[in-house]
Amino acid sequence: MRKLALCDEILLKIEKPARYIGNEVNSVMKNRQDVVVRFAMCFPDVYEIGMSHLGIQILYDMFNRFEDTWCERVYSPWPDLDSVMRERRIPLFALESQDPIKDFDFLGITIQYEMCYTNILQILDLSQIPLRAVERTWEHPIVIGGGPCSYNPEPIADFFDMFYIGEGETQYRALLDLYKTCREDGVSRVEFLAEAAKLPGMYVPQFYAVRYHEDGTIQTFEPTRPDIPKTVVKEIVRDVSDTYYPEKPVVPFIKCTQDRVVLEIQRGCIRGCRFCQAGQLYRPVRERSVEMLKQYALKMLDNTGHEEISLSSLSSSDYSQLEELVSFLIDKCREKKVNISLPSLRIDAFSLEVMEKVQDVRKSSLTFAPEAGSQRLRNVINKGLTEEVILKGAALAFEGGWNRVKLYFMLGLPTETEEDIRGIAELSNRIAETFYDTVPKEKRTGKVQIVASTSFFIPKPFTPFQWAAQCTKEQFL
Ligand code: SF4
Repeated sequence: MRKLALCDEILLKIEKPARYIGNEVNSVMKNRQDVVVRFAMCFPDVYEIGMSHLGIQILYDMFNRFEDTWCERVYSPWPDLDSVMRERRIPLFALESQDPIKDFDFLGITIQYEMCYTNILQILDLSQIPLRAVERTWEHPIVIGGGPCSYNPEPIADFFDMFYIGEGETQYRALLDLYKTCREDGVSRVEFLAEAAKLPGMYVPQFYAVRYHEDGTIQTFEPTRPDIPKTVVKEIVRDVSDTYYPEKPVVPFIKCTQDRVVLEIQRGCIRGCRFCQAGQLYRPVRERSVEMLKQYALKMLDNTGHEEISLSSLSSSDYSQLEELVSFLIDKCREKKVNISLPSLRIDAFSLEVMEKVQDVRKSSLTFAPEAGSQRLRNVINKGLTEEVILKGAALAFEGGWNRVKLYFMLGLPTETEEDIRGIAELSNRIAETFYDTVPKEKRTGKVQIVASTSFFIPKPFTPFQWAAQCTKEQFL
């Protein structure tokens, strides 16, 4: 019988115990004695957020297709459980087996945003794994980082044995084989890491000397051993149709941020907004075949019982087979009474037509992301979106019956002036005027609602704006 790591007394006093008990539909159980490698896959945030992340579902499926490997999940405990675990010295455990993470072979941490850096330390600390890589021995798992923040690993390099730079589908098999051979041959941990550093996409910080300029930028970056590559090149999956994708995603017991089937239709984005890290990191654009997507959509809906399917990509309108895929899904989903959601669409006549069909006349709000208030600044950030296109899109939407528009802007962009900030209000007003110019009085179902929200620009590595200044605290205030 499966024994839970937390006793009933603890489970009954913490919030949402379902975050920690595992055993969800489609979670994978294996026999400990049948596997050679135990891999703990961690999203360093609360369960509801981590469970909504597609990348983890893809890698979880991939690892568990390997007969010799058991991949399990772990998320950040909420502060209520965190304090109980510290008080009673309960080590952090994986959801499936409920075994302590410290006994695993690998702890893979996906690092999606900088705000979770402190959660990574919490995960290591609760797992009773030494925080710094140099203090670890074969008694501890290999801690490997992945995800977008691993492209700029230096700020957190001390805490990781290695980083996997790029898409996980390509090199993990080779890494696990290397690990198995090294363990069988009694190779030291350091020598295993040195061999791992020779695999494409792997960065092992302890084999590089990094010197900094006074302003904190990197002056030199050199391997400390002759057999270690000088540069690390990101890994990408060339054929995204013939690769791993989960047919049976794990279905949580509790409501998560994304409670639906997610169909990733393509990777990469053809646009080149200068602030956008995803647009740069996930290049080149690679479409999944429409046949593959149709098959997976049906299988995933059958295997999960979800009532909604969402097409995911950085810019769905640019997927060349969108019309065929959406028509297929509309037919199938109508039969199954499943909703379709289509984020990241550009607002043009075709997209509105598609949205009309899939939204079943429920006119929720439309979203535009002009990012900057003036055309000058939109040109600076290369956001190929003119005021004319925005107003035309809004007019089409208003004619189609929508009367709520959400607008996303960024403040603090390079070269921004007072005029650009005022431009946000002016553009919002012009969109409102477009409503009254487009929709005759007798056809209006209420007032137009324009919601303009702003966030602050943060310069991101590998973007043309990586060296641009970020606003200071005083400027933000
Ligand atoms: S902001 Fe959107 S459209 Fe622009 S590059 Fe990034 S993903 Fe593509």
